[in-house]
Amino acid sequence: MADIELIITNATIATASDTLPNTDIAISHGKIFLLGQNLPALFPTAPTLSADGAYVLPGGVDSHVHLQQDNSPTGDTWETGTRSAIAGGTTTVLAFASQKRTDESLFPVVEEYHRRARGNAHCDYGFHLILSNPTPHILENELPILVKEEGISSVKLYMTYQPMRLRDSELLDVMGTTRSLGMTTMIHAENADMIDWMTRRLEARGHVQPYAHALARPNIAEDEATYRALSLAQLADVPILIVHMSSAVAAGHVRRAQTKLLPVHAETCPHYLFFTAEKLRGEGFSGAMCVCSPALRESAMDLDAMWDGLVNGTFTTFSSDHAPAKYDHPLGKKKGTETFTQIPNGLPGLETRMPSLFCAGVLTGRLSVQKFVELTASNPAKLYGLSDTKGTIAPGYDADLVIWYPTPEQAEAFAEKTGKTTGSKGMTPFKLSNAMLHHDIDYTPFEGMEFTNWPRYTILRGKVVYDRDGAGVVGVRGDGGYLKRGRSTLSRPRGVFVNEFDPYAT
Ligand SMILES: [Zn+2]
Repeated sequence: MADIELIITNATIATASDTLPNTDIAISHGKIFLLGQNLPALFPTAPTLSADGAYVLPGGVDSHVHLQQDNSPTGDTWETGTRSAIAGGTTTVLAFASQKRTDESLFPVVEEYHRRARGNAHCDYGFHLILSNPTPHILENELPILVKEEGISSVKLYMTYQPMRLRDSELLDVMGTTRSLGMTTMIHAENADMIDWMTRRLEARGHVQPYAHALARPNIAEDEATYRALSLAQLADVPILIVHMSSAVAAGHVRRAQTKLLPVHAETCPHYLFFTAEKLRGEGFSGAMCVCSPALRESAMDLDAMWDGLVNGTFTTFSSDHAPAKYDHPLGKKKGTETFTQIPNGLPGLETRMPSLFCAGVLTGRLSVQKFVELTASNPAKLYGLSDTKGTIAPGYDADLVIWYPTPEQAEAFAEKTGKTTGSKGMTPFKLSNAMLHHDIDYTPFEGMEFTNWPRYTILRGKVVYDRDGAGVVGVRGDGGYLKRGRSTLSRPRGVFVNEFDPYAT
């Protein structure tokens, strides 16, 4: 007989394809062992945890997270960032190991990020490589080893930010390599020269307040660079993901490319669903809290377009782009009190990613629960080579689970079924304040937002690591382990070129 360490009873399981009501989940050795009815009768000595009829969904996979990078000295550490992850229902983060221009080899970079993360993470984790100096030596000799030995199957490339931006020719060279290695290529698409040109003029005329950040990075900079990234990827016949999209026109470029069956993916983030550039006009310097790139958009039509893109499949993943800096700190946001160009870019959002979309999307009927699971867990697992262990609820998969609170309808159904009203614990809606969060940042852009649900329990490989009504974070740092990843199972090069010439033919 199997060792069953936990049975979750009376779950409403939802995956990216189905909803299974009144189901029990038996967990053995950190993995899902069995789904079925009345499992405690089969395993009478196993401990149980009732879901009270509520949704039990796959643990979140947040595939765009910045932790403890050198360029953000006041941001979250691996410990505090991943602590906030589990308190928001995320059990896997993919963060960045970031190469500096002066780094001639990637091996010490990866080793250094291992050193920072090892023993400190509350959830499982992997690394994407940020390439800012993709020398031929690195592309030919180092990337193949990192794919094979380290299981690092994705890179991120920047078209903007002077210390990291790559020229088009460099982007193409990297794409040729990632194509041959089966890596997923992530691209930050904004036109660096447009932004620099606008920035110089804004500063020269004394427009130095946080709001000028949005003026310096208009939609057109994202629209142009997105179209160019799609064109480069088409030329190179390589699957890409455009990260953190915010503009309706840019999302339209992606949608048209997908209609032509190009292997193109895209991502958007919570802040592009909920906030406009109005946030940057906050009192005094407070707008700096919402300085991120791409900038929050002027028009609510862009926000609607991001919601549409989540529903209609333009976006493959929904990630936090957690890239925080403390507000009230001379090396944090306040670095930019003289001019907006010195404000560190980025927002905290790891903990609020899942609950904000669950409440504003699933519970309002704007997004199906299937789509929610696909965007927050299944697709990131598939795109980044974790599709055999993460992102769904099925026997053999890691028992990474989020138990939500029963909705009033679910609580009523549970009471009817069991005769137990006391067991079905709903959640009282509340307004979020930063003090409730588990990151190490002194603000949240979601301050004051009402939440009608939240992860009640987060379970990492069978272990309860977050118990909202009990002791809160009950996992410890070091619970999370490093994930060696394989290839994307979502898309691959098509072997289709823009003309009769195959640029890879030998
Ligand atoms: Zn980012």
